[in-house]
Amino acid sequence: VKQSGGNDTVFYSSEMDEEYRFKRQLSSNLRQAMENDTLEVHYQPQCHADSHEIMAFEALLRWNDPQMGNIPPSRFIPVAEETGLINQVGEWVLRKACQEAASWRKPLGIGVNLSAVQLQDLELPNLVRRIVEQSGLEPKRLELEVTETALIHNPARSMKILSDIKKLGVRIAMDDFGTGYSSLATLQNFPVDRIKIDQSFIAKLIGNDQAVAIVRAVINLSHDLNLSVIAEGVETDDQARFLTDNDCNEVQGYKYGYPRPINEYWHVVHPNSND
Ligand code: C2E
Ligand code: CA
Ligand code: CA
Ligand code: CA
Repeated sequence: VKQSGGNDTVFYSSEMDEEYRFKRQLSSNLRQAMENDTLEVHYQPQCHADSHEIMAFEALLRWNDPQMGNIPPSRFIPVAEETGLINQVGEWVLRKACQEAASWRKPLGIGVNLSAVQLQDLELPNLVRRIVEQSGLEPKRLELEVTETALIHNPARSMKILSDIKKLGVRIAMDDFGTGYSSLATLQNFPVDRIKIDQSFIAKLIGNDQAVAIVRAVINLSHDLNLSVIAEGVETDDQARFLTDNDCNEVQGYKYGYPRPINEYWHVVHPNSND
């Protein structure tokens, strides 16, 4: 503790200590959770915008720690990225989601998020190939979601990694589109199959001329580039109507389904079955 800093400094540094201790405990509990297989994956539907038919699910991590309670991914993913634990967590969730999807009677798509840290690892394509092969999942059913921010840190390397992944027949989606620094350049340079319009634009859509213009432009741009486009964070009928009227291909959000354990979507992935 600094002598000269007064109360503010003392308070600030003890807060830092607390944050540091919290992160250390969180990392150690997260490692434990993986070893004990107590992390969970929830699945959120991605639907055809016109028919609302479920086309795919996005895998989202959930963690209920016995000591620390429910910890949202927005809290533990950044810490796992700092400590490098994200590589194991990322491998775990990819394997889990691929195995799960491979067991479905209906061959729906499966989306899995990749962290910026994973996108620095030249071994990632090999890992993806092994997991896809071992799970028996058809590669084209898998879509990996990456953010633009993850790509610009080391563009040449990310580019190599993404194109090696695409050679496997696995698809790439640009997540949180529109929130990075150079969205348009990223699109031109990276081999993506699909754009996910960030939920912040969808949240502002109704009654906000700027958001309307941006979402329309992104949808048109996607079509012009022959990319499929999905909007995330769709909650209301008005948002849904706007998106279908403007030819958005797919939609995802609480309006169509919450992220839930796959049991709750059992009859979607096993249609015409009685069990
Ligand atoms: P994301 O990939 O952008 O995921 C979308 C987030 O929006 C999810 O939050 C989802 O539950 C939430 N969401 C879905 N529909 C709606 C809606 O209609 N309204 C609102 N307000 N929110 C909606 P979640 O599950 O808390 O995940 C937050 C972030 O954590 C994800 O953002 C992703 O960046 C990260 N994350 C989650 N699972 C993983 C994972 O397995 N690996 C990695 N690397 N990141 C993950
Ligand atoms: Ca995502
Ligand atoms: Ca997103
Ligand atoms: Ca996001």
